[in-house]
Amino acid sequence: MEITFLGTGVAIPQKGRVQSGVLVGLEEKPLLLDCGSGVLNRVFEAGVRHTDIDTVLLSHLHLDHVADLLCLLKANWLMDKTDMRIYGPEGTEEWFSKLLGLYEYMLEKVEVEVIELSPGEEFTPEGFDCEVSCAASVHSVPTLAYRLMSGEGEIVYSGDTEPCRDVLDLAVEADLLIHECSFPTGTEVTNHTTPSTLSDLLEEYRDEIGSICLTHFYPEMQGHEKETIYRLKRYFEGEIILAEDLMKLEL
Ligand SMILES: [Zn+2]
Ligand SMILES: [Zn+2]
Repeated sequence: MEITFLGTGVAIPQKGRVQSGVLVGLEEKPLLLDCGSGVLNRVFEAGVRHTDIDTVLLSHLHLDHVADLLCLLKANWLMDKTDMRIYGPEGTEEWFSKLLGLYEYMLEKVEVEVIELSPGEEFTPEGFDCEVSCAASVHSVPTLAYRLMSGEGEIVYSGDTEPCRDVLDLAVEADLLIHECSFPTGTEVTNHTTPSTLSDLLEEYRDEIGSICLTHFYPEMQGHEKETIYRLKRYFEGEIILAEDLMKLEL
């Protein structure tokens, strides 16, 4: 399993980080987790053919996680790849039909299947030899964390969330937890994670999760990299990694 961080930033622009997107290379083909603005170009920069991507798991519908989805669909259609499956939380179907409805010329030309998921659901995405399960993250809108389980390894992607047991429980015995870390320690914030709020909960999971890779950084996180790793290391035995755009991890 090869994990490519396409976008590790947020809704506020910053140098070197586009919005959220993680590409998981499985034996069969790549599977995309979120598709924020800038992600489609990163697919190209990562050396991946966008037409190979026809399965997208959305954590939630905030723009910084979905803005390039229609752009991907259009790019694929222009290259004669017209089918796509989009998995997402409650509300994804209505959101997508309204969005596509604004582009009538595309409506007839693409075949998109939208599958809404509830926390706790397990499924196998069509065309893949892997199991996916999901849990509810704690965010301002319905948000899902995903666990991907294949013969090559197991990873969890938190989406946007406050640190919460549902997500950390989902990550028990996973090789890698990709967890958001929006702001540095000391920031008072709800619906998102800081190193201090994560470490409060993480201690209970100190040897139960393989490694943690942090992503979804606001510009405020710049300059706080070392202290973030240092703080989390006190509560967690595995490796702590900070994601960069186009960084790859191999399981
Ligand atoms: Zn969000
Ligand atoms: Zn976000």
